[in-house]
This record gives sequence, structure tokens and C-alpha cells, in this order.
Amino acid sequence: MDKIKMTTPLVEMDGDEMTRVLWAWIKEKLILPFVDLKTEYYDLGLLHRNETRDQVTIDAANATKRLGVAVKCATITPNRQRMEEYPQLTEMWKSPNGTIRAILDGTAFRAPIVLPMIHPVVKNWEAPITIARHAYGDMYKAVDMVTEEPGTATLTFKGESGAEKTLTVQTVSGPAVWQGQHNTEKSIRAFARSCFQYAINQRQDLWFSTKDTISKVYDGEFKRIFEEEYETTYKVEFERLGLTYFYTLIDDAVARVIRSRGGFIWALKNYDGDVMSDMVATAFGSLAMMTSVLVSPDGTMEFEASHGTVTRHYYKYLKGEKTSTNPIATIFAWSGGLKRRGELDGLPELVQFGQALEDASLETLKDGVMTKDLLGLVEPGFQARGVDSEEFLDEIAKRLADKLG
Ligand code: NAD
Repeated sequence: MDKIKMTTPLVEMDGDEMTRVLWAWIKEKLILPFVDLKTEYYDLGLLHRNETRDQVTIDAANATKRLGVAVKCATITPNRQRMEEYPQLTEMWKSPNGTIRAILDGTAFRAPIVLPMIHPVVKNWEAPITIARHAYGDMYKAVDMVTEEPGTATLTFKGESGAEKTLTVQTVSGPAVWQGQHNTEKSIRAFARSCFQYAINQRQDLWFSTKDTISKVYDGEFKRIFEEEYETTYKVEFERLGLTYFYTLIDDAVARVIRSRGGFIWALKNYDGDVMSDMVATAFGSLAMMTSVLVSPDGTMEFEASHGTVTRHYYKYLKGEKTSTNPIATIFAWSGGLKRRGELDGLPELVQFGQALEDASLETLKDGVMTKDLLGLVEPGFQARGVDSEEFLDEIAKRLADKLG
């Protein structure tokens, strides 16, 4: 069989721990046998980020801007514990995802992969809920400090014109902790536009929620910009398609989401999206079944799994034990990236390959072959067999080879 040709490379960002192991297996078993793969490779593994003083993350993000498509493996965001685990780290490097999002200034759309034999924990959810997470700013681009003595913190903006604005944040009588956050009108507007556009593409209602009763100015800006974009640009198309744009407070939204039937896009600020996407993923089945794509205003897309590096499994793997780590979301990152590359480059065979890879993965699960994290989630009576990751990938590879003739 001739391998499927690619014309433009996609950006490949390798990562850490168990997902790095899965990454290599997915390529070896599911992609390289069928596709003449062209990638521009960036090693975002923690030690290589450290060696390059995190320059590799910036280079990978800039390459993504240039090439238009990337696939990313999960990566470690170092914290204090990781600094002890990896004593060679010279700095507590920032979240690579945060850095990439800041450069691409996109919106992350996260959607669960749903299966007929796994019913959501929330019984009334009938269709997937897609979380649209703003991918720039707020806590993720904040500056923080701890102070030890009584005193006052102020917030000052110095305009290029020379004008200044100052607010008192707080006067404290003892040690305190502080954080300065920002967002930009440009980024919020791009967030709003990509959400409305994605809703139109998916033919789904759009919900948006913030806490503008408390955060009257900050969250108020988000609410105002969404409303303005809707009224001036998207309302006519929404009405033509029978779609709804619905704004509500985040606490009200949480209650309504739980009571809903699903099947809509829920737009959330950066932190809210981070938290809610894990809740939605777990309630739909498993974090390992949640896909994520970062969409920039210019159409650049970065595909990844929503889950982390699955540390517990990695330490088992290092001891020589077989693990049953679920590769589905990482496979869908690859299939999504290849399909997008195929669309952009006019390569229908590559698009079909991406689709066949997804179909073969889902068929394997429907045939009852799955990783162990899913075994406890299937409906009673469904015959399922738990396998380790390599065996699972081999089963997918068999079905994929059949499909591709
Ligand atoms: P995690 O997603 O790795 O694991 C959370 C829980 O879900 C664990 O119990 C794990 O066993 C289970 N799980 C997740 N994915 C699974 C899979 N594919 N198959 C089977 N079980 C799975 O998150 P964590 O433990 O909070 O973080 C581990 C590391 O991952 C951290 O260093 C963190 O910085 C990093 N992280 C990276 C990303 C990313 O790059 N996108 C996202 C989240 C966390």
C-alpha cells in the first residue's frame, strides 16, 4: 500500500511521562504505517524546556502560527513538588499550554467523545456539551507576590499619553498575598467571535456565563463585548438558523447545565473553563475521552487531549509494569490535526485517513475492547474486556488497516 502523502508539515509538540510513551506508540502503530508523515518536531518534554530556558515552547507556538496546524502531547507544568522531583530544573517554568495560548490568542473548544454504551452520570444529558474556554489572560497571565508587613497595595496604569489611573487595592495589617490580572479588549473580542462562529458552524446554541454581579467592571467587560458582537454581527445568522445566544451568571449556568439535555456550547472565562471542562468530562465518562482544540482568530488550530501526563501510570511503566492508559483523546488530537492539515492543503486522502482513525478507535470500543478506566463506566450487560494500552492500540491498528484496505 502506498502511504498517504502530505505536502505541508504540521507542528508536533512532544510531551511528558505516560502521554509521551503513548505518543510514540500512537505514531508507530497508527500513523507511520499509513501516512508519509511530515512534522516539524518540538520536544516540549520538561527537561528539554529547561535546557532551552523554555525557548522551545515559544518556538513551537510560533511555528504553529506559521504552519497553521499543531498536535500537542500533554506536558508537566512544574510546581514545588516537581521542583523536588527534578532537581536539575533551574526555574519553575510556566505552563506550556499557557504560553502557547498567549501566543496564539485562541479559544479552546473541549468536547467529550460520547459512546452509546457509556451513559453520562447526569442522566438527562443526551448530547455532548462543548466547553469554549477563553485561552488568554486572567490568572494565567497574572503577576503575584507575597508581602510580609502592614501596608497598602495600589494598582497603577500608565498610558503612553502620560495619563495615569491609580486604584487602592487594599490596606492590610499584616502579611498578605496579591495578584494582578488583566485581559485585553482585542482578546475578549476574538474569544467572542470564535465562540459565535463555532456555534454557527456546529449549529448549536451558545451559552456564556461570568460573575458580573461581583466582578462588575472586569467580567462586565466580557459581558458587554459578547453582547456587542452578537448584536452587531451574529444575531441575524443566529436567528436565521434558529440558534440562541444566552447569557447568565455562572452560578445560574451551573445549575441549568446540570438540568439540561446538553447539545450546546458553553463559553467560559479562562479559569472557569479550566475547571468546568474537567467536571463535564468526568460526568460524560472520563477525562481520557475529552478532546481539545485551540482555535485562533486567524483559523490556526492546535489539537491536544484535555488530560494531563497520567503520572501514576508512568511510574508503573518505569517499573516495567503494563498500564491501561487510555490513548483515545491523544489519538483524536492526531486525527484532528491530520484532518485539518488535509483540509487546508486540499488532500482528501489525509482527511479520510483522520476520519478512518477515529472510526477505527470508536469501533474498537464498541466491540468491547477498552482500557480499564472505561470498564467501570459501561452500562450493565455490555460485554467489555479491559486491555493494556499497547494491546488496545494494536486492536485499533487492525481495524484501521481493514478500513484502509
Ligand atoms: P491527569 O490528567 O494526568 O490525571 C488525572 C486523573 O485522571 C488521574 O487519576 C489519572 O490516572 C486519570 N487519567 C487522566 N488521563 C487518563 C488516561 N488517558 N487514561 C487513564 N486515566 C487517566 O492530571 P494530573 O494528575 O492532575 O496531572 C499530571 C501532570 O499533568 C501534571 O504535571 C500537570 O501539570 C500535567 N497536566 C498537563 C496538561 C496538559 O498538558 N494539557 C493538562 C493537565 C495536567
